[in-house]
Amino acid sequence: MSLLSVTGASAAYQDVVALHDVDLEVRESEVVAVLGANGAGKSTLLKTIVGLVPLRAGKIRFGSRDISTLKPQQVLREGVTLCPEGRRLFPDMTVAENIRLGAYSCRDTGTIRRRLEMLYDMFPKLSERARQLASSLSGGEQQMVAIARAMMSQPKLLLLDEPTLGLAPKMIHEVARLVKLINGEGISVILVEQNARLALRIAHRGYVLEHGGVSLHGESDELLSNEHVQQIYLGG
Ligand code: ATP
Repeated sequence: MSLLSVTGASAAYQDVVALHDVDLEVRESEVVAVLGANGAGKSTLLKTIVGLVPLRAGKIRFGSRDISTLKPQQVLREGVTLCPEGRRLFPDMTVAENIRLGAYSCRDTGTIRRRLEMLYDMFPKLSERARQLASSLSGGEQQMVAIARAMMSQPKLLLLDEPTLGLAPKMIHEVARLVKLINGEGISVILVEQNARLALRIAHRGYVLEHGGVSLHGESDELLSNEHVQQIYLGG
């Protein structure tokens, strides 16, 4: 069943058209990869879905609701959470404090504590580091914190923007494992990645964005064996 459907979406920054006529669907419990070169419009697509960049044309539906004109806070409440590129942690706050920020729309301390405990069960390494300053963590561990923070809002759809960027190979696999674990809980994921091979191994389906438009989409296996994808995104 369709969870998110983006239809004919266009977005721009003043005169720069960053997305044009994009159609994309995410089904329940599905991981969808979005691939593309620098500047292809991947981050803009995610920001448009969560209401950070306004739609110029088109429609975005989430579940039974039209979310095309909702504000970011309202989209979050509907169950769509963005984990932005670059992690954006507060370096002088502890791991636990950073993670708790993801529940800022929830006032009930008991609920926050329960969510935090659930996340620590899922990410035991973060539990060990709960009292450390975020700045003392490796890049990969910081990425885990950023994902855990996004999970505090209990999303139905998690949008991950370049979660493996700049990470060591071991941590890349940790992040991949985590995405699968999250998806195993029934949460749908849009995974924006420059690492196309990794993304297509995790995802059920994928979309290729080129110059702001969808040039290809299909099952991950189909894309992995597609000649254009192989040449441009999988290193030939
Ligand atoms: P990257 O991996 O480099 O982030 P991307 O595929 O996520 O690439 P976007 O960041 O969505 O691409 O950028 C799409 C286009 O919009 C690019 O031409 C970019 O220069 C432009 N752009 C992005 N953000 C802004 C902004 N805040 N103001 C003006 N132009 C922008």
